[in-house]
Amino acid sequence: MASRIPDEVMIDAALIKELAGVAKDTALLQGVLMRTKESPNSSELVTYAPFTLFPSPVPKSVFLQALSVQTHFNTLVDKISQDIDFLQEALASTIEVDDFTARLFKIHQQILKEGRSQSIVLGLNRSDYMLDQREDQTSSLKQIEINTIAASFGGLSSQTPEVHKHILKVAGRLEESQRILDNNPAAGLARGLAKAWELYGSERAVVMFLVEEVQRNIFDHRYIESELWKRNIPTVRKRFDDVYKTGSLDPDKRLFVDGKEVAVVYFRNGYMPQNYTNEQCWDVRLMMERSQAVKCPDIGTHLAGTKKVQQVLARPGVLERFFPDQPQAVQQMRETFAGLYTLDMGPEGDKTVAMALAEPNRFVLKPQREGGGNNIYGSEIVKVLREVRGSTERTAYILMDKINPAPIQNYLLRRDSPLVISNCLSELGVFGAYVRQGAHMVMNECVGHLLRTKSSEHADGGVAAGVAVLDNPLLV
Ligand code: ADP
Ligand code: MG
Repeated sequence: MASRIPDEVMIDAALIKELAGVAKDTALLQGVLMRTKESPNSSELVTYAPFTLFPSPVPKSVFLQALSVQTHFNTLVDKISQDIDFLQEALASTIEVDDFTARLFKIHQQILKEGRSQSIVLGLNRSDYMLDQREDQTSSLKQIEINTIAASFGGLSSQTPEVHKHILKVAGRLEESQRILDNNPAAGLARGLAKAWELYGSERAVVMFLVEEVQRNIFDHRYIESELWKRNIPTVRKRFDDVYKTGSLDPDKRLFVDGKEVAVVYFRNGYMPQNYTNEQCWDVRLMMERSQAVKCPDIGTHLAGTKKVQQVLARPGVLERFFPDQPQAVQQMRETFAGLYTLDMGPEGDKTVAMALAEPNRFVLKPQREGGGNNIYGSEIVKVLREVRGSTERTAYILMDKINPAPIQNYLLRRDSPLVISNCLSELGVFGAYVRQGAHMVMNECVGHLLRTKSSEHADGGVAAGVAVLDNPLLV
């Protein structure tokens, strides 16, 4: 499929070069920023976050479908996080072989034993989709995954619409320019954080962003921080190590870090094994989990976002367990599910192995990892499955139908990359925010979207992984 931008524009090298220059300046003006590889922890040297020259067409009906199902997914994640038996059963085979999930699960068990010390729950998640191309050229919305921890780009995607609006005007496409949607996930995510902070009920207490060692994407966080400061809600940024050195619980399990009481711990770190560089990180995770601070996410919600849980949810009758009286909600969610298959030991898992070996290009093999670059495709699937098929090691993975979106031509603007036209695939993310206090949902909203686009040569990987770039949907 061609871009919506006329071919004569797409191939006019001089014009594209000029537009790319304007686009980069506009991104800098609008604060679509990232720190550089050379100085990831200082803002002395920044560049634009990578983005597409043009917005990508997305069918309106599919876009609206993704927005309208989001509050159901918020509710679903929240219900799973509280369902002890479900999590135990769903993850039983995974934690036998996957150490990272096992460690998270162990924290979950310990918290249950001690009793939760905080009844306020804050969920900030992002449900990601691709548009599967049907034979009749229409497309259907298929969920890739729900990120329940450290879902990023809500900040920068609040700034990218202005860039594409501007560049379309400069390209003489005023009508399209006016159709670029406003988007402000930063404000919505901050609303959730603010609500949790307010319910915690201490004016002096801070919202603590738990951040990574390397902080190239700091500006994405800064937008949310700044929304909180606008409300006079203090925020601090701390690493695992800072919390280890200066953090403690008082006798009431209130969390103090560097002398300040923490109302909300917002995890922008802690989602993958490499984030836990030593045992102290795990001690810190447990301490925060045991504390009275509102955790975003709490450990149950983190586990609810695992790929194994996603696969179990696709089994017949499982969504009904969580929504017994809401067949419409069940149907809306299930419509977005791609085929997901267990690799548990037994005849069903054996069948999955045989199916994947017979037609590896139809599937994606996924371990329980986040952050991009971990999935397995094509001939690699055959290699890996041949190795693990006879052992419980295979239960660390799930198998998923591969989604095949229609490629669209665009230019990916990235520092030090040549300006060339690429065949691109897009992934739509939808941000959800909810707050629950005890049994009462205080807030449950869809708070914005994110479109990321990558060259179709890359099977995997997000913006932070250096593969995808920021984009905006142009509804068609
Ligand atoms: P991660 O948690 O590492 O982000 P994802 O499940 O989101 O893992 O997969 C990473 C990337 O791999 C996605 O952004 C998408 O580009 C690609 N991908 C994942 N699942 C599929 C699928 N079923 N079909 C096609 N591409 C997929
Ligand atoms: Mg992902």
